[in-house]
Amino acid sequence: MTNQTVSHKPKGETPLLIDYFSARQEEMLAVIGELVSQETPSHDKPRLDAFAELLAARMRAAGAQVTIIPGGERGNHVRAVVATPQTDPNAQPALVLCHYDTVWAVGSLATHPFRVEEGKAYGPGIFDMQSSLVLAEYALRAVRDLRLELPRPVTVLMTSDEEIGSYSSRALIEEEARRSAYVLVMESPLPGGVLKTSRKGVGGWELNITGRAAHAGIEPEKGVSAIQELAHQVLKLHSLTDMEKGTTVNVGVVEGGTVSNVVAPHARALIDVRAWTQTEADRITGAIEGLQPVTPGATLEVHGGWNRPPLEAKVTRDLFHRAQAIGHKLGLDLQEGSTGGGSDGNITGALGVPTLDGLGVPGAGAHADHEHIEVDQIAGRAALLVALLLEL
Ligand SMILES: [Zn+2]
Repeated sequence: MTNQTVSHKPKGETPLLIDYFSARQEEMLAVIGELVSQETPSHDKPRLDAFAELLAARMRAAGAQVTIIPGGERGNHVRAVVATPQTDPNAQPALVLCHYDTVWAVGSLATHPFRVEEGKAYGPGIFDMQSSLVLAEYALRAVRDLRLELPRPVTVLMTSDEEIGSYSSRALIEEEARRSAYVLVMESPLPGGVLKTSRKGVGGWELNITGRAAHAGIEPEKGVSAIQELAHQVLKLHSLTDMEKGTTVNVGVVEGGTVSNVVAPHARALIDVRAWTQTEADRITGAIEGLQPVTPGATLEVHGGWNRPPLEAKVTRDLFHRAQAIGHKLGLDLQEGSTGGGSDGNITGALGVPTLDGLGVPGAGAHADHEHIEVDQIAGRAALLVALLLEL
């Protein structure tokens, strides 16, 4: 990381930040409610594009220079950039990474409306991660209202397709990350608000097997069973799992054959792969791409790869320890943990850019019926984001 000696004046402002956001917690909750009440499933381009316009307007009103970046068949992405009078224009920017798509289908609001009960705010995507969009917006508002000085320009990316693999946003994320000093990923944290300093890499392959059809009663010897071959390959694939290392290979879907009295001419398997380290990721890649048929006459074809490489602690640890010290000044006791799920932090970490993930509002139930955030944690998490942008 460079430019750590840039002068700024964050010290002593931390209580101010807590006061600022505590006074606005209800207002922020109301905005979270507004955002959650607009459904944004990953595949619904018209709704996503409309939501991107709304976010762009909000970020402009918060003082950012905003660009809408076409998402092709996916929703458009929003890039908001902010600097303050004394920001060193040559300093590497800080990148704040959010996604605004959710896994919730249109109509989910009817059964899961935005509501607040006993200090918890519920709604589709509220934890993953519509509330984080509001943290980012209000961080910029605080910088302006409190006349804080950012040591580096801040780029906020709000992308539209994280929940379905970030195929449309990946190049943009990589481009912004490469020129940034560090990346703050606003994904939901682990239970208790614990930050995510390592994530498993996530890969997916499809295995297609071709055999030869034959009547199972009249001339079975002329057939080559793709299903028999599939059975061999499924066992081989599952044997690649190494629980001790946390590497898993899961054949989650199989299909094949035509009818019961025909030797199956084809079969197919869908494979999910997870690994903590690049070394393990490479081992699995080699094994899958090197699969050989066991049944004479059967042929195999595999295609796929790693959608998100592992986020390894070696690119996150230093940033975490610095964040922990900054959190202390706000009265926050930040801890770190790991998860088997991937995020866009895997993409930025794989580039070697220091990445801190899980900075969203504490809560629980991502993608589940009880998805919620803890209302009294909103102010602290917003203050943390601003303090990180001032001090890192
Ligand atoms: Zn997410």
